[in-house]
Amino acid sequence: MVILGSTGSIGVNTLKVAKRFDLGVETLVAGKNIKLLNEQIKEFHPKIVCIADKKQISEVKHKKVLYGSDGILEAIEQSKSDLVVNALVGFAGLSPSVLTQKLGKRLALANKESLVVAGNLLQTSKIIPIDSEHFGLWYLLQNKPISSMTITASGGAFRDTPLEKLSKMSSAEALNHPNWKMGRKITIDSATMTNKVFELLEARWLYDCEKVDALIETKSIIHAMINFKDGSTTAHIANADMKLPISFALMGKVQEEILPHVDLVEVGNLQFKEIRQERYPIWEIREDILKNPQRGVVLNAANEISVERFLNNEINILEVAKINKKAYKKFSDILPKNLDDIFEIDKEVRKFCS
Ligand code: NDP
Repeated sequence: MVILGSTGSIGVNTLKVAKRFDLGVETLVAGKNIKLLNEQIKEFHPKIVCIADKKQISEVKHKKVLYGSDGILEAIEQSKSDLVVNALVGFAGLSPSVLTQKLGKRLALANKESLVVAGNLLQTSKIIPIDSEHFGLWYLLQNKPISSMTITASGGAFRDTPLEKLSKMSSAEALNHPNWKMGRKITIDSATMTNKVFELLEARWLYDCEKVDALIETKSIIHAMINFKDGSTTAHIANADMKLPISFALMGKVQEEILPHVDLVEVGNLQFKEIRQERYPIWEIREDILKNPQRGVVLNAANEISVERFLNNEINILEVAKINKKAYKKFSDILPKNLDDIFEIDKEVRKFCS
């Protein structure tokens, strides 16, 4: 397989699954963590390697090293593997997703931003999602009429922080996620609940369902639920570990234990909460964006800028949503028809939010 983002949280878990099931790794794409990449090269012997910056090529212990965003596309094109795991973070993942599908390769997609910004331009029915909630939904789907879908949220680092203290919380505190160990951007997106708005959009594209909502389940044990027309609700319960969705994405079928079952007696009780706008102001736009999913490109571009500014301690956590909503309002009439439009809007929104 080809792994884009091999040194990140999803990439590392993907390699753990590859090792356990002895799956071949042809290509590794990483950013700047050359030390970890070199360890991965030593263990997995990829034929092609790509990194973000040309200046670091001499540090990479491999004879074929590509670089930059064009290098990622070249790496996908030159690889013979039929499966591409896209675990890059942010808008940078879009072109690789589009190319993967154009070449007829299978796309195992963790890079949710691809779907958020350009769900209408991807072959969504062919995507294999690597996201616990969408994996959970897929696991539950049966050939029965559905009335709605629900995905769960942990509530992020500030779920229980007194509201009046929110504006004073630091980026280091926001990075302290209660249930999951993930990359920096998605951890901040969890604290603001933007991650869940993204996931509602993902669900809309993947399962062609607008009736999808979210609630907080504080222990991240239930990942998704389906409400069937007959009045039954089924829930996907599993420990919080991405190796489960990744195993299915890589192999299609799984016959062995990937994770131990959740011990419900040990869990003791579960707590559900409504997602409230005063804590998560971005929640205000969720219904509108589900009706106008083409506006995902605006929310994503604004969010990439505002999250970076928060991580640089330029703004507080509440201002992240303020900037995102301001951009969402300002660019309300966009209607991207192709990839060029998407890139153009992305650029304009970033300029506005910077
Ligand atoms: P990380 O930040 O941990 O990893 C991102 C990866 O992308 C790293 O390997 C990084 O390289 C690489 N990268 C970043 N910029 C570039 C670049 N310009 N060129 C090449 N490589 C680059 O993120 P996560 O693994 O947490 O998340 C990846 C994606 O999966 C995101 O879209 C996220 O929303 C999604 N996701 C993550 C989940 C999780 O549990 N972590 C769950 C569900 C979805 P380096 O570190 O070497 O710089």
